[in-house]
Formats: sequence, structure tokens, C-alpha cells
Amino acid sequence: MTKKLHIKTYGCQMNVYDSARLAELLAPQGYALSDDAEGADLVVLNTCHIREKAAEKVYSELGRLRQRQDERAAAGGELRIAVAGCVAQAEGPEIMRRAPFVAAVVGPQSYHRLPAMLAGAPGAVATEFPAAEKFAALARQPTRPAASAFLTVQEGCDKFCTFCVVPYTRGSEFSRPAADLLAEAERLVAIGAREVTLLGQNVNAWHGAGPDGAPWTLGRLIRALAALPGLERLRYMTSHPLEMDDDLIAAHAEVPQLMPFLHLPVQSGSDRILRAMNRRHDADAYRRIIDRLRAAQPDLALSSDFIVGFPGETDADHKATLALIRDVGFAQAFSFKYSPRPGTPAATIEQQVPDHVMTARLAELQALVMRQQLAFNRACVGRTMDVLIDRPGKRPGQWIGKSPYMQSVVVDGPADWQGHLVETFIVDGYQNSLNGRVHGAASAAAA
Ligand code: SAM
Ligand code: SF4
Repeated sequence: MTKKLHIKTYGCQMNVYDSARLAELLAPQGYALSDDAEGADLVVLNTCHIREKAAEKVYSELGRLRQRQDERAAAGGELRIAVAGCVAQAEGPEIMRRAPFVAAVVGPQSYHRLPAMLAGAPGAVATEFPAAEKFAALARQPTRPAASAFLTVQEGCDKFCTFCVVPYTRGSEFSRPAADLLAEAERLVAIGAREVTLLGQNVNAWHGAGPDGAPWTLGRLIRALAALPGLERLRYMTSHPLEMDDDLIAAHAEVPQLMPFLHLPVQSGSDRILRAMNRRHDADAYRRIIDRLRAAQPDLALSSDFIVGFPGETDADHKATLALIRDVGFAQAFSFKYSPRPGTPAATIEQQVPDHVMTARLAELQALVMRQQLAFNRACVGRTMDVLIDRPGKRPGQWIGKSPYMQSVVVDGPADWQGHLVETFIVDGYQNSLNGRVHGAASAAAA
């Protein structure tokens, strides 16, 4: 009998990828994925621990699920609950103590064990780091994916930025073998993907032996993937400035499938703060990388992550961050108030910045980034660009797709446009999206 599986995914794209793999792993046990938790037989919370209150949110969600579990039991049924992801990794035994009604807890490197754990005694916790074993155990997309698919190429982090939990929750850097990635990408294209985004906490730290036996870094892998027939767009995220090597930068000039958009987090524009964050680059080194990237690909649009209010950050440090944003000019950016994470070195620094100061700095930084984003979007008006249609819009006959620069573009089109790549004239540019008019022939999704 088919059982209903609901997965609630928090956090980054790597969790989105992991949730899709979890659904595939559970399918042979009769679980069919549903967007809706109502009536589910198994609910998996795939959690994120990157910022504060993550664990508390998970415990409140577990409280709500417990009520549902009781209601199901009263009606003679059963609801099983599992917790996966980075909160599971960080809090494994604590989850079992506070929520003993949970059937299984699996860390991000152990989730391939979930089917066996659910078949065994309840209350099992798996938080080891067998990344290679995990990838070898993963089933592959039996269903048709969206036109744009994720492919995790690298996991974990050895950088130990002083604010970040990732090295503790995801483990040390692991690169998947090139041959496996080429085979997985080929399968994705065969079932309809036209765009593949390579994922990793430090995606540009990816390295490994190529099928030719030579040592490959990400630039070489991108070139090999670009040679796959039918793979029309490539992206990669998230990168660290330290590993933007010459070959990867040259790939932006030489590989037409590599989209002219790069998310390259810098976190701060102050050298003092970058040192305290253990970022191992200064603000000018970041500016120089941007110059080299733009020399290779003048059309490159940039995105970044910023943390405001890192312990000890002064007004002068904050101004240095604003100056860097003005110098570089971003098409979009993510910004966060610093959030002390238990177990990280920065959490023990005494000069924590008061919340009202962080709020004011965040508002100032976001206003600047939003002005840049609006200017970038407006500058696209009058241009023609390919848009990959990936979901229906709000009203009938409307579609939303992605521009090469990751903007959402709204267009009108026929009912069968999902997955088409359409040549689009940009009519309007707004804060968060563009309006386009399609002209020229749409190229159909692969069969
Ligand atoms: N590996 C990437 C890098 O080197 O920048 C980013 C990974 S992290 C999952 C995504 C973003 O979350 C970071 O770039 C950072 O801006 C933010 N972040 C991480 N820890 C944080 C913390 N303790 N407080 C606030 N923001 C944080
Ligand atoms: Fe976290 Fe990224 Fe720093 Fe690694 S490089 S510790 S993932 S912010």
C-alpha cells in the first residue's frame, strides 16, 4: 500500500537536494512524496542550523506534529516523524530526550540510513560522517525533474570561519568523483534538465581525478559537463573567494553554457573583521578577484552574503562594508544579522553588538543593495535574453522563468511552456523581477 511522505525543508539548496534524494530513498518502502502534511504517514523535518532559533523552531514544529501523531493514533493510524539535517547533527541525543516520540534522527551525512532505521527499533540516532558511503547509496531521480536541477558535487567545509557551524554539522570537505558527477548529470539531462546548478558548501573547492586520470578542479569539471549534449546552462554555488583559481575564472570567458552570474560571499568589507572571521582574505583581495572575473566575463552579474554586527564591528567597519558594496555593485545579495552559534569561536567573543545597532546597520546595507538591484534590473529593459521557463505565474497564461542573471522574468505564453527556453525582450524592470515579451522561436524542453 502506498504511504504518504511529507518532507519539510529548511535552509539552503543543499537541503533541497538532500530532501529530493531522501524521497527517492524512501520510495522503495512504498512512500510517495506529498507537498501536504495532512494525512501523512511519515513526516521528515530536514533542518538548518545556520542561524539562531533554528533548534527552537524545530522543537515547536515537533510539538505540533506530536499532536497530529496523537490524533492519528486515536483514529487507529500511525504518523512517524524523523528529523534530518544540521539541527539533527548538532542536537541528535537532545532531540531524542526532548521528543522521544521521534522515530529517527539522521545527520546530513547519514540520511541514506533512514530507510533501515525506520524499519528497525524506534529512537535511533545516526550522526556519523560517511559522505562517500552516502553518495554511493543514493538512488537517482526516477522521476522527471524540473528543467533546472541541482547536483551536489562537494560537501562540508574545512575553512572554520569563526561564526559558522557548517564545519561541525556537515563535516570536512568531501568531493564526489568526477565520473559519478558526469554520469549523474547525463541522467539529469536525459530526464529533462536543461540547466544544472552544481552545489557545495565550498563548491569551488571541488577537486578530484578526472576520468582521464589527471587532477581536475572545478573549472575542468565545468568544461566536461558543458560538453554533454543537451546541457544548456551551468551554474555553481556557493563559492569561497580563496578558491577562485585562474582556470575557473577563465571558464567564465570560455564556456558559453556557464551563466554570467556568480554568488561569491564576502561577509564584510573590513579587513579587521575579515581577520576576526578567519576568512583568510582581505577586502582588496576580494575586489581583485572581481576585477579578474569581470575581465574574463564583462557581462557578469554578482551576488554575495554579508553579516552585519559581527562581534566587535564598529561604525567604521560597517562603513568599509558599504564602501565595498558601492565599489563592486551587486545584482542582488543576502544579508544577515550576526547570530551567535553555540560551539563556534565568535560566540564567546565578549563585544557582541547590541541588537538595535545590528538592526540599523542591516537596514542601511539592505537599502543600498536594493538600490543596486533595482538599477541592475532596470538596466535590463530593452535587452533580449534567454529565459528558462520553470513555473506557472499567478494568472492563467502567465509563466515565470529565470534569466541568465538569476532574475525572475514574467512572460505570457501557451500552456505547454514548462521547461522551454524562450528568447525574451525585457519590457520592465522592478525590484525583484522583470516583465518580458517573448519573441523568436521557443526551444522546446528535451523529450
Ligand atoms: N560557504 C559559504 C561561504 O563561504 O560564504 C556560505 C555558507 S553559509 C551556509 C551561508 C551564509 O550564512 C554565509 O555566507 C553567511 O553569510 C551566513 N551565516 C553563516 N553563519 C552565520 C551566523 N552565525 N550569523 C549570521 N549569518 C551567518
Ligand atoms: Fe561556513 Fe562558508 Fe566559512 Fe565554511 S567557508 S565555515 S561554510 S561560511
